[in-house]
Amino acid sequence: MQQRQRRWNGWGWVDESAPVPASARAWLAERLGKGDALTVVAEQDVRVPPPRPLPALPATTSQASGDRLRHACGCSFPDVVKLRTGAPERFPDAVCYPESSEQVVAVLRSAAEAGVAVIPRGGGTSVVGGVTVTAGSGPTLVLALDRLRGLASLDRASLLAVFRAGTLGPEVEAALGPCGLRLGHEPQSFEFSSVGGWIATRSAGHRSTGVGRIDDLVAGVDVATPEGMWRLPAQPASAAGPELRRLVVGSEGRLGVITEATLRVQPLPEHRDGLAVLVPSWSAGGEVCRTLLQRGPVPEVVRLSDPDETGFGVALTELPGLAARARDLVFGVKRFRHGCLLLLEWAGGLQEVSLARQTAAAAWRDAGGISLGRTGWRRWLAERFRHPYLRDVLLTAGWGIDTLETAACWSSLALLHGAVRDSIAAAARNAGFPVAVLCHVSHAYRDGASLYFTFLWPLRRDAEISQWQALKNAASGAILDHGGTITHHHGVGTMHAPYLEREIGTEGVAALRTLAAALDPHGVLNPGVLLSRTPDPGPRSPGGGEEG
Ligand SMILES: Cc1cc2nc3c(=O)[nH]c(=O)nc-3n(C[C@H](O)[C@H](O)[C@H](O)COP(=O)(O)OP(=O)(O)OC[C@H]3O[C@@H](n4cnc5c(N)ncnc54)[C@H](O)[C@@H]3O)c2cc1C
Repeated sequence: MQQRQRRWNGWGWVDESAPVPASARAWLAERLGKGDALTVVAEQDVRVPPPRPLPALPATTSQASGDRLRHACGCSFPDVVKLRTGAPERFPDAVCYPESSEQVVAVLRSAAEAGVAVIPRGGGTSVVGGVTVTAGSGPTLVLALDRLRGLASLDRASLLAVFRAGTLGPEVEAALGPCGLRLGHEPQSFEFSSVGGWIATRSAGHRSTGVGRIDDLVAGVDVATPEGMWRLPAQPASAAGPELRRLVVGSEGRLGVITEATLRVQPLPEHRDGLAVLVPSWSAGGEVCRTLLQRGPVPEVVRLSDPDETGFGVALTELPGLAARARDLVFGVKRFRHGCLLLLEWAGGLQEVSLARQTAAAAWRDAGGISLGRTGWRRWLAERFRHPYLRDVLLTAGWGIDTLETAACWSSLALLHGAVRDSIAAAARNAGFPVAVLCHVSHAYRDGASLYFTFLWPLRRDAEISQWQALKNAASGAILDHGGTITHHHGVGTMHAPYLEREIGTEGVAALRTLAAALDPHGVLNPGVLLSRTPDPGPRSPGGGEEG
């Protein structure tokens, strides 16, 4: 059987795509006009310079141009534009595929002795320049964890599963499912992202509101460093000093290479149910989410779209005649002129789910909402991993699209939402092009929620990255000015590194640098990621995966 091929210059499988219906194209054309289609260069036409010399590496190392091109960057907007136009500036000098933790330590030791930068890589889905070869790295090796895969052991009594770091999302659930278990960590990049990548970036999945973020699911980790293996075994709880496992979660490869992790798993739920609700406004929807999170029962999925995202969602969903007319009728009601779509999902025992649904119904009815039934939820469930394919189609049609995310306490969420939208709109206006800004609450907590923004604009040939940069800079500034975190789940990478100090303070950055120096004295692990290469470049020069 032929193996499915992954796209080298865009998202996902080569044989899969996402159609953009005429209604969505009309929605975009009306707001944004037409842009310039982004060119696509053939893989064989990208010039990959010869590799620089490296120390002796294991036989499982490749210096083939194709491998070096496919490991040159991740999936950020600038990464994809550079790949599609055949313009990546930098490439790793080799890609090494270690087969054991011991081999990872050996490679790190020789890299440290020779001063070779090492980029650990799981699925390569970073959208913040976490796996992008940057300026000033010198000779660079990508440590691709593709061969460290699979379930290593399962402790059923404790509901703990040890996975090798390169295991991808579907492989995790395929290994647990036959045992009646699940991890339940499902980021939108699920099909292509790895256990090690999730931990390194502190990722959150669609079901994290109920199941917990990866932070909550990590019970133990094995980390390879140039100094040897650092093992932090699973403990249900401990008072043995500060929680060092938590420091590894979110360390983005700067403290070592995660080779194995012990994850907290749970029995597969007996029952799952969900539905779409239409609420009259963004603030009414926010109140429903807050009530559910503070009073419970907590749903697994809470997803509230603002009016613009609700409108685009409607344009993206082609319905047969009668259903479309019914939808138009509901959305035509005066009360729902600024209506917001709220998706909720619950999992557990039949009784438990039914009770949770009833409690939630009281909350959305109080807020003036109505149930739209299960169809919208089922559609989202079926299509959620196909949405990322839209970006490639839209780029070809001349529209830029990117996403960014933040989180804040309930008391500042509405202000933050408005400020980010306004700042992106002002930046686009200043640069002379229109923009559409959509947003949804993607994860909710007792004390606050995340906001996930999507922004779209008409592309200008050869200015695609500077257009994007203007919008991204404006949003990042507004986030920090209004009490948001610079990232809720995508991580810091090189893109957000210049902003880290504003969020965690000089002391926080200094503490991280000291820890990184203790574990990686030669500073070869992921230079420029998480911690900027120079101590404080300030937020004036945030790079799209690039550093000066
Ligand atoms: C379409 C799309 C949808 C996405 N949706 C989500 C989402 O829903 N939720 C979310 O949280 N994120 C999401 N992301 C971002 C990304 O998928 C996550 O950051 C993910 O956790 C990265 O996993 P990965 O295996 O691809 O890591 P990579 O991209 O390979 O690496 C990410 C970072 O971690 C480091 N790293 C990787 N593996 C290791 C290791 N074993 N040890 C040490 N360091 C390591 C890398 O050096 C890099 O700095 C999305 C990205 C895309 C493109």
